[in-house]
Amino acid sequence: PHLPKAVVLQAVVEKGFGRGAKKLGFPTANLARTDSPDLDVLSNGVYCGWAQVYPQAGAGAYEDGHSQPPPVYKAVVNVGVSPTFGDVRERLVEAHLMHAFEDDFYGGELRLCIIGWLRDEMKFPEFQDLVANISNDVDVAREFLEQDFAEVFCREPFFSRSA
Ligand code: ADP
Ligand code: MG
Repeated sequence: PHLPKAVVLQAVVEKGFGRGAKKLGFPTANLARTDSPDLDVLSNGVYCGWAQVYPQAGAGAYEDGHSQPPPVYKAVVNVGVSPTFGDVRERLVEAHLMHAFEDDFYGGELRLCIIGWLRDEMKFPEFQDLVANISNDVDVAREFLEQDFAEVFCREPFFSRSA
C-alpha cells in the first residue's frame, strides 16, 4: 500500500560491511545517517520508491536548462537497525536500485522518494531465504511503481533541484 505521505531523503552513499549482497545481485547503497524527521514516521521494514544517484555530493545546478539531472530509477528500500559498535544500534537506510550500474557510486549523493510499504522487517534463518525474499520484493516494487499515481513521483522537482 502507498504511504500517506511520500518521504524524501538525500544523503551520501557510504561503504557498508559488504556482506556479499552484490555478488547475489542485490547491492544496497547504504545512506549516511540522516536526521530527517520524515524518517521517524517509518517503522522498520521494506519500502519502495524512486532513487537517483548524483556522482558527487553537493551536485551542481541542474536548473539552468542546459544540463540534465541523472536518471531516476525504481528502488527497494530497507529501513532497519544495524549493529555498529558495542550495543549501539542505529537506524540504517539502504536502497537497491533497479538498474545495472557500470561502477560503484560510493561517495555519491543518493536522493530517495519513498512512496510504498512492502512488508515489515524480518529476520531470516538462512541467507538464501533472505535473497529469495528480496527478489520477490523487487518484483512487487516494480509492479507498484508502474501504477500511474506512483510514476508521478519520479518527476518531482526534488529530483532536479540543485543540492
Ligand atoms: P555495502 O555493504 O558497501 O553497502 P553492497 O554489496 O550492499 O555493499 O553494495 C552496495 C554498493 O554497490 C553501493 O554503495 C553502490 O556503490 C554499488 N551499486 C552498484 N549497483 C547498485 C545498485 N543497482 N543498487 C545499489 N547499489 C549499487
Ligand atoms: Mg549495502
